[in-house]
Amino acid sequence: MKTEETDCTGTASPGTHSPTRDFTPDDLRDLIVGGRTLVPTIDGTMRPYINLDSAASTPIARPIKEKVDEFYEWYSAVHRGAGFKSQVASLAYEQARDLVAGFVGVDLSDRCLVFVRNTTEALNRCAGLMPVEEGTVILTTLMEHHSNILTWRKHCVHVETVSVDEHGAPLLSDLEARLKANEGHVKLVAISGGSNVTGVIPDVHSIARTVHAAGAMLLVDAAQLAPHRPINMGPLGALESIDFLAMSAHKMYAPLGTGVLIGPQSIFEGRAPEMVGGGTVLFVSEETVLWTSAPESEEAGSPNVVGAIAMAAATRFLSEYLTWDWIIAHERDLTSYALRKLNEIPGLTIYGQNDPALPEDRLGVIAFNLEKVDHWLTAAVLSHGYGIGTRTGCFC
Ligand code: PMP
Repeated sequence: MKTEETDCTGTASPGTHSPTRDFTPDDLRDLIVGGRTLVPTIDGTMRPYINLDSAASTPIARPIKEKVDEFYEWYSAVHRGAGFKSQVASLAYEQARDLVAGFVGVDLSDRCLVFVRNTTEALNRCAGLMPVEEGTVILTTLMEHHSNILTWRKHCVHVETVSVDEHGAPLLSDLEARLKANEGHVKLVAISGGSNVTGVIPDVHSIARTVHAAGAMLLVDAAQLAPHRPINMGPLGALESIDFLAMSAHKMYAPLGTGVLIGPQSIFEGRAPEMVGGGTVLFVSEETVLWTSAPESEEAGSPNVVGAIAMAAATRFLSEYLTWDWIIAHERDLTSYALRKLNEIPGLTIYGQNDPALPEDRLGVIAFNLEKVDHWLTAAVLSHGYGIGTRTGCFC
């Protein structure tokens, strides 16, 4: 997963990379399922759909679809099925787990990877693992997606929110102050690896150092980060490592319906699973039940094998087919171009860092408002006038 230029923390600095391969705009359109779909516009013409809404859900990449189509020939019941196809499907499911773990730099000897529906479910599951006794504090930040705020508010007793600076980046001084003020009580700091609004990419490994020094654990919501930058959770227990990570396949060019929660194996053990049923037990009698170990205990019912295989294919698509060098350089070019052009529009406000020179690394997500124009109207003109899909309103 790691490229030569990637340092030990897995963060690669843009600008130091040159693309290892060239894709023409036509290659890229062909790489995307539906990349040449025409949509109706208000003047009665059909135009190629321009998808600027990938931060919500990416389209499907063709190599991922092909991998899934291949698997459909072997599609069958997994785990306890004794037939040959069942054995192949079960093996493919477990290989998918290993591949997704490898994508974020972990092996599964001391970590556990649970397949869930999406990042939101992963965050809720993680919250369910946290102690809820009086005095426990969870810290999150003002840059978070609702899924990484409301989850903690619902499950945990005391949640505090770290402030952000004028670009939307979390203020480390505020994090440190809150860790100090709640010394010994903060169990977890939950922070996004990349903002879905401003594109801010916090340095999660340096945050990990601060969090661990205060005796807390770190969760990274990697929903936006995963398709854009290499991630390395690091060895379990190391000062710079990430303890928990959540991400979704539908932001990685695979279909909706699959996500993962990765965390220390020990945290999942010694408790009744949150959801129980088929696959979660070693033994059941009329009086007793013996739960099996995680991840099986955390994946009640028939698992989404197709989704897992698609997510695993997505990890290879990003890191091996496109490659991080190319992704980072291409995103940087596009973001810089878009910021330059948007800055030329009178009355347009960009939220977050808007310097086209990109002095700080940032994702290519750009949120803006046009003065005196309702945001719905702007989005409607882009869609009905030009076939451009954007997102408008409240971004979770
Ligand atoms: N966190 C971030 C930063 C996101 O951008 C999103 C999706 N927009 C989520 C969490 C939630 O992801 P999902 O909808 O896949 O649960």
